[in-house]
Amino acid sequence: MVGLEMDTNTGMIAPQEAPACKRMLIALACGCVLVCQSARANGNAASCPLDEQNRIKPGYTWNVATAQLAIARCEAQPIAMVRRVSSGNWSKACTPPSQDLSSAASWTGCAPPPACTDEEQQIKRHNGQVRLEAWRRRCSGRKTTIPPDTDPVCSVPMRPIDTIVVHQTEAQQAFGPDELQKEHRDRGFDDIGYHYVIAKTRNGWRIFEARSEEIEGAHAGSGLNGGSIGIAIAGDYRTQSNPGKDPATLVPPPDAVMLLKSLVADVASRHQGITQIYGHGEHKMRGSGCDTDCPSVGVQQLVNAMRKQMF
Ligand SMILES: [Zn+2]
Repeated sequence: MVGLEMDTNTGMIAPQEAPACKRMLIALACGCVLVCQSARANGNAASCPLDEQNRIKPGYTWNVATAQLAIARCEAQPIAMVRRVSSGNWSKACTPPSQDLSSAASWTGCAPPPACTDEEQQIKRHNGQVRLEAWRRRCSGRKTTIPPDTDPVCSVPMRPIDTIVVHQTEAQQAFGPDELQKEHRDRGFDDIGYHYVIAKTRNGWRIFEARSEEIEGAHAGSGLNGGSIGIAIAGDYRTQSNPGKDPATLVPPPDAVMLLKSLVADVASRHQGITQIYGHGEHKMRGSGCDTDCPSVGVQQLVNAMRKQMF
């Protein structure tokens, strides 16, 4: 069943004719909304700074502190996810609910971001190219003293999973799994390096399944990928990338933060061996790898809140 097609000109996912798939999506989407609302309503709603639609309640300003509060006080929600077929990509993501993942989750299978406008495409291409060049410069300057990140072949099985590592993508919020996969392959990786990507679509923020959890990722650096699930949240929240902005406000929006919390809770619930969560930078420091400013000061604060609250 193919409900989505990759536009070879734009590289974007576009919905195609697939009535059965669309009906399934609508049914699942409606079901998820109902479940999410009841979950939030039954949760710690009074002290959560967000309402049922993740809008900021009166009296709060969205910043690092409020996002930490949301992680501490708002209920994790049942997650919906854009699934990836085993050997394909997101362009053929319309699959039935998974048999091997959490039965409590509502896997939508196909929640396509509509094709971007030409203007949006140009921004994406420009941004992607700039990122790649910046990475090449940085990488070439470091190779003499620090081993470059190496990517295991896709067949390297994951070691027992005990860690979640959180990243930011250092790109625009709409720079999603397709673009990341291309960029990572341009670096010489076999595939997208992360296991999950949380990115903005024209339908809102979505969780995208990326590299299989059964396969070692390429996200934390040599020797640190085995046993860790890599989750990337789209965007660049570093101070140097946001001149003039109050650093206290440099966090993903509420929808993205709540998806991150919910995904972390889901992954941790399915892997009983997971005992720790780290931001990329602190994980590298533990492994004596090179330093990195990923996932940014603000997102690291969210990781700290999740560690305190959930691990
Ligand atoms: Zn990272």
